[in-house]
Amino acid sequence: ELAPVVDELGSRFADAGHEIALVGGPVRDILLGRGSKDLDFTTSAHPDVIERLLSGWADHVWDIGKAFGTIGCRKGEWVLEVTTYRSETYDPTSRKPEVAYGDSLEGDLARRDFAMNAMAVRLPSRQFVDPYGGIEDVANKRIRTPGTPQDSFSDDPLRMMRAARFAAQLAFTPDPDVVQAMQAMADRITIVSAERVRDELEKLICADHPRIGLDLLVSTGLAKHVLPELPALMLEKDEHHRHKDVYQHSLTVLDQAIDLESRLSVPTPDFVVRFAALIHDIGKPKTRRFEDGGKVTFHHHDVQGAKMARKRMKALRFSNEQIDQVSKLIELHLRFHGYGDGEWTDSAVRRYVRDAGDQLERLHVLTRADCTTRNRRKADSLRAAYDDLEARIERLQEQEELDALRPDLDGNQIMRILGI
Ligand code: ATP
Ligand code: MG
Repeated sequence: ELAPVVDELGSRFADAGHEIALVGGPVRDILLGRGSKDLDFTTSAHPDVIERLLSGWADHVWDIGKAFGTIGCRKGEWVLEVTTYRSETYDPTSRKPEVAYGDSLEGDLARRDFAMNAMAVRLPSRQFVDPYGGIEDVANKRIRTPGTPQDSFSDDPLRMMRAARFAAQLAFTPDPDVVQAMQAMADRITIVSAERVRDELEKLICADHPRIGLDLLVSTGLAKHVLPELPALMLEKDEHHRHKDVYQHSLTVLDQAIDLESRLSVPTPDFVVRFAALIHDIGKPKTRRFEDGGKVTFHHHDVQGAKMARKRMKALRFSNEQIDQVSKLIELHLRFHGYGDGEWTDSAVRRYVRDAGDQLERLHVLTRADCTTRNRRKADSLRAAYDDLEARIERLQEQEELDALRPDLDGNQIMRILGI
């Protein structure tokens, strides 16, 4: 079912003599039965004309990238993006695809990433256009490229990341030849700007099925280029937790963090807690032993892990805030392991709270998520210990609030001082 705004916009552009079609994500999502308030259109009109046609109609119009042909607007509860037909020309050595305007819907669809994203509905006729069999792909939950995957990925290697991202969001399976091309061309991802890679990685982590996307990144070798710390975890046996390897353990902790996410007061999905859960153990492989002038020293892997996370996130151009938050969580996630052994003093509990600062809620989620072993009883007792710590933190915080309210002097002393 199409929203009335879609037909309205279609008539408006047609009356002015321009072609326009609903395209890409929203068409795919309607077929999947998941509606969204974001609608994308593609049109023969050039940006100045789009802007003029939207201005007399929408509640608010903005320029998303006039140079790239995209104008955005809001109409009631709907957010619309209208883009001029494109036919991109590619320079395989450049980090960003160059944009040239195209003259047909078919030409515009031909340069899109996947068949399921290359479907359109012409307006106002509502004619469904699907040159590459996107509708079958949606029905079969498959990811295929319009042309050969080799050509598509050499035109824009980011599409390999997008394949993994859509697999994670939709629980779709890329066709074997798509996976093969990803494998063969994984190293091309290095010519793509870090920001574009980051955006796809962030969407993948925040998807409903991040495990599917992460397994694809690792099995195709893309992870080696975008997040090498992750495949490195596969080499690591974790006898302590008796998991297959630390990579499998990390995916389990991510799944558990997702289950616990609803406890957070921040909006979910929460990238920070998910990413911290995924990479919380990356310091492990590196910190077996450190040789330092013949002297062998062992470093705590949490400190090393926090440092590594910082470096990787910086290279991927994550914000300083995200970097600080994730690295703090990694640095603190192991401290709780000392809790079961001996009793923590109140000041140890206070230090934990103080060091966690505004990340305390996420630290609760991460640490609990990490309470996982094949031994159910051991996992349960770890969780029980964390329940105990959380209860103590709450009691101490209540106590501190009371202390803050209660004056240091009692009533009699105050009366004496004031001579009352
Ligand atoms: P969502 O917005 O839900 O994440 P989407 O399908 O709308 O999903 P976008 O990244 O918003 O994805 O891109 C919009 C459309 O633009 C896609 O459906 C696809 O047709 C096209 N597209 C985006 N990026 C590329 C790319 N790198 N190469 C080819 N086509 C692309
Ligand atoms: Mg979109």
